Order: sequence, then structure tokens, then C-alpha cells
Amino acid sequence: MVLQELDIAAPTDLNLHDTLFPLSQGLLATWQTCRHRFQLLYLDQLALSRDPDLQERLERGQQFHLLMQQEQLGLNIADLAASEQHLDQWWQRFRSSPPTMIAGDRIAEHRRTLAQPPFLLSAIYDLLILGDRQAQIIDWKTYDRPPTAQHLQEHWQTRLYLYLLAETSTYPPHALHMTYWFASLGTAINLPYTATLHRRTQEALAEHLNALTQTMHQNFYPQLPVGSKPCRHCEFAHRCDRPTPSGETLPPAPENP
Ligand code: SF4
Repeated sequence: MVLQELDIAAPTDLNLHDTLFPLSQGLLATWQTCRHRFQLLYLDQLALSRDPDLQERLERGQQFHLLMQQEQLGLNIADLAASEQHLDQWWQRFRSSPPTMIAGDRIAEHRRTLAQPPFLLSAIYDLLILGDRQAQIIDWKTYDRPPTAQHLQEHWQTRLYLYLLAETSTYPPHALHMTYWFASLGTAINLPYTATLHRRTQEALAEHLNALTQTMHQNFYPQLPVGSKPCRHCEFAHRCDRPTPSGETLPPAPENP
């Protein structure tokens, strides 16, 4: 296992012999939910047009991440914060109710990778704080309804981010924790880490990476059974001939050239 600092592009080709296949928490979560969706999104690279409201929310969220990065770099963010109502509210909320942060060196937008051939596990931390005896990962969230702590604990973002930090640093698992801070509420959820959780993630990763390797070699990515919950809100429902929640079939989606 080797720590590397690489600029990882989205996977464009399946070549398990010459290159490492970048695997982020998003890919892992998709793989776990539906193998066919994994193929469509990350191997065939089909991108569907997004709902304009969702697109706007995503762009606003990216702006907030940029703002927080610039704040960590000591740059003047007043103009950027004041440029948009939500950004300003979130920034004011951060100033009045920031998450509890440990003392230590702060690194914004920190990329960390771990080679587990033929894969390259990767994570980008919104903010990583490296203290004397402990480290903290902070993630900014800008969506309206925060999930539960249990949901976050089980999500691949939490699992992979903490796993990678434990594997690529000298901190023991119990010295790590991850904090999600919700800009819409000014609240935080802190998730501790333990040696037991680390071992569980290691075992789950081994299982998934093994299955993924086999599936890639076989090049067969099955759809979920008809009636599966994830299909109800999947943008590929029409391709898989699955009904949408309204009972209607979505119009054909544009594909990437
Ligand atoms: S519609 Fe269902 S089976 Fe098809 S890609 Fe989406 S989740 Fe998978």
C-alpha cells in the first residue's frame, strides 16, 4: 500500500493491467447500490441533464466550498460571501456557530490516495486538521435536510475518508474523527472512529474490491430486480424500463457524445 498524491481524473477506460482505477466514495456508494448504474455512470460515462434547481444548488454548494477554502488560506472572502444570499447566510452561520475544531495544522481541499491494485482509493477532504495526538476531518454540507448520524456513519464517505487517513498516517484509528457541518442549520455531527470500525471497513473494502475486479473482468453489470427502491429515483429508470414514482416514464435522456 503506497501513499500517493496524484491528480486523479475520472476513469475513462478499463485497463486493470496498466493503470490504477480511481475509486472514490461516490463510486463505491454507486457500486454498492447498483452495478448497472456504476457501469452507466463511470464506465460508459453517461451524463444526464440535471434538474435546473438541483444544478443551481450544486453550484451554490461548490461556491461555499471555495469560500471556505479561501478562508483557510487567509484570503479576503467578504466580496464572495456577499455575492449571493445563501452564501452570505451560510458564512454568517459559520461565523456564529462553527463546528468544534481541534488545534493543529489545517489543510483545505486535501487529496489523499491509497493504492490497492488494480484500484486507487481516493478522497478529498474539505478540511483536514492534524493535531499532536489526534486528527479531524471536516466536511461542509449545504443541503437542506441533514441525514441522521447513523446514516452518515454507514455512508462510504465517512468510512473511506477515515479509513484512508488511518492507513496513510501514524494516527491510530481512535485518534481520528470526522465532523459534518451543516450550513443550513449551523449544526454539526461528530463521528468517532475505532479500531473495530477500521477493521470492518477493511473487510468490506476487500469484499467489494474483489467483487468489482471479477465484474470488470466478466464485463457484466446486472440491473437491480424490478421494484427495487433505488430505481424509483434513478435517472436511468427509462433506460432500464422502470417506472418512475409518478408512474410515468421519463423522456429519453441525452447522452454524452
Ligand atoms: S434504474 Fe435501477 S437497475 Fe437501472 S441503473 Fe438505476 S438503479 Fe440500476
